[in-house]
Amino acid sequence: MKDKPNITFEELLNKVKDYISDTKEIELICKAYDFAAEKHKGQKRLDKTDYIKHSLNVAYILAEISADYQTICAGLLHDTIDKCNVSKEDIKELFGSEIANLVYGVTRINRLNYNGDNETTIANHRKILVGLTEDVRVIIIKMADRLHNMRTMSILNEEKQKENANETLEILVPIAHRLGMNRIKTELEELSLRYLKPDVYFSIVERLNKSKNERNKYVEDMMNEVSKILNEHGIKHEVKGRAKSIYSIYRKLDKGKRFKDIYDLLALRVFVNTESECYQVIGLIHSKFRPVPNRLKDYIAMPKSNMYQSLHTTVFGIDGNCFEIQIRTYEMDKVAEHGIASHWSYKENGKTMIQDTMEEKLQFFRNLMEIKENDGDDDSFVKDVRDDILNDTIYVYTPKGDVIELPKGSTPIDFAYRVHTKVGHTMVGAIVNERIVPLDYELKNNDIVRINTNKNQVGPSLSWLDIVYTSSAKNKIKSYFNKIDKEEYLKKGEELLNNELRKKKLSINEFLIDDNLNKIYKELKIDNSNDLYIGLGNNKYSPNQIINIITGENKTKEELLFNKVNNHQTEEIHNKGDIIVEGINDIKVNISKCCRPIPGDEITGYISSGNGINIHRIICPNVKDLDERLIDVSWNKQTNQKYSTYLLVHATDNKDILFNIVAKTSNSNIMVKSINTINSDGEYIFEIKVSVSNLEDLNKFMIDLRNISNVTNVERVIK
Ligand code: MN
Repeated sequence: MKDKPNITFEELLNKVKDYISDTKEIELICKAYDFAAEKHKGQKRLDKTDYIKHSLNVAYILAEISADYQTICAGLLHDTIDKCNVSKEDIKELFGSEIANLVYGVTRINRLNYNGDNETTIANHRKILVGLTEDVRVIIIKMADRLHNMRTMSILNEEKQKENANETLEILVPIAHRLGMNRIKTELEELSLRYLKPDVYFSIVERLNKSKNERNKYVEDMMNEVSKILNEHGIKHEVKGRAKSIYSIYRKLDKGKRFKDIYDLLALRVFVNTESECYQVIGLIHSKFRPVPNRLKDYIAMPKSNMYQSLHTTVFGIDGNCFEIQIRTYEMDKVAEHGIASHWSYKENGKTMIQDTMEEKLQFFRNLMEIKENDGDDDSFVKDVRDDILNDTIYVYTPKGDVIELPKGSTPIDFAYRVHTKVGHTMVGAIVNERIVPLDYELKNNDIVRINTNKNQVGPSLSWLDIVYTSSAKNKIKSYFNKIDKEEYLKKGEELLNNELRKKKLSINEFLIDDNLNKIYKELKIDNSNDLYIGLGNNKYSPNQIINIITGENKTKEELLFNKVNNHQTEEIHNKGDIIVEGINDIKVNISKCCRPIPGDEITGYISSGNGINIHRIICPNVKDLDERLIDVSWNKQTNQKYSTYLLVHATDNKDILFNIVAKTSNSNIMVKSINTINSDGEYIFEIKVSVSNLEDLNKFMIDLRNISNVTNVERVIK
């Protein structure tokens, strides 16, 4: 979509008449246009166009998402209060209070000054914007306004462009995402990237253009294949190729993916009439093309929180290429593209559906607070809102980007219970911003929180009551324990201990002699076996902990480790080796062979069963989904050993290349241990195994290699 500098009112009207037939509504839109045109008369925008063209474009963007007539009117009028000295009352008199409220709402948001304000965080800005808004249509108009301003931003100076792009990306895009307004969100993201990082943006555009014909051919062939299968089964459908968004490509590149790997994923979309046909289609596609494991997502049965529905799969398609396929009904497509703005037409009990959905959707952002209206005094009004928000609310994110609002002082346990009671009851650990944190960690604004759960976890621990902050989490924990009566704990505790004793091949009777029991009571500072079994039953103690009091040495390193993790001790204990495992001394660590980390790499530890900790690079896909068994590890500052790792060297020619590679080691701390030719057909690829002390040395070496003529790329290998 592009800016329409020469847009006319007729064009807008035609667009609107596609879906609005009520003559009264059309008349009001005409009246709003006449009024705005009159008021903006003579006003120019920076790019010398008539100001009214901006209002027309904003209204046109709204018409493209089939906005109702009040919203179209408000779009036309949205700048009249601030730019033309029109009052809210004037608009109310001419157009009614609903339209007046919309225009005033947009005006109020536009008056907020986001820039150069350090005291308030971005999350709070988002909150203010949403909190100020009683009618979601205000936000939708604001989105359209911003979209047109971004489309026409080339006239501004660079500083202003970057400022706007930043604000768009940090404040408006997340709201658009929450509301499911994907089409507008995508365009806002791309425009932001274009101004924030023009080099990156245009290089992606260029690379996409270069490979366009080839990709189009693959997609077209695959579309024909899919169509053929569906026609054979008499399923009415449409298939379309799908362009990957430039911004999403940028984000993947930013995370270290290779361009080649991204655009290899060709994408298409299948549209059908009914939900059951969606499932039929995916079955047919999978019966012909082998699906890539773990890529099937059923967002129909489980819609995303912004209402998005579709089936997703990736299959090995023709010519060995991977194709990402989305399957949805036309109705789902409307919601997927426009989210909350796809509900204009539904009326229920005289109230348009959008207002109900809005209530639901905006709940996340809503505070318990009441927003105070201070008549006419916008500054203190904004300050009031801001103070209320700053006081004690934080906003954190789920790994999927959903916002969770919590009082300041909340811990990962509060977060888990807020997400779902079951998540709370089965949680075993938490990862914040990709680091393991203790359960009493105090969450901060914008933290991304991932809760590790374990289905076999028997329930929360009573000790959590001292950690959690919110009363709702407290109540849920208490009610969990109230539900289970003491008898049950006793029984469960006894069972747990006996099972563990049996597993360890210890005699139950021998273990439970008075001497031992007294030793245990003393150690745990309890009085009798009731306390012991109840403690075991409610997870205050683990069976192993009890057994270890008596047997002492039976503790394996892993048990110790798990105890440490469960006890949330995070002090760093330095072992003699090169790797420090948080919370434990002297445990076997193994350097994983898939990603070959070297000192300086960001690493994580995978708790293997029975063989210590395996060290992977944090970006290694082999540990991506294993959160439950990951533990924080770090490199010892003083490491002495050299580590082996693999590099791939891409070159256009093999002349002297091996010699040159080895030559580059002469003035570095690198040793080349082996070189294999992987590919010598067209592009030359060599896999070299190097021995190196740390990342810094390796990076220097890689730069040296890239400087060899004929070398096009050098990269680390993950197998
Ligand atoms: Mn505007």
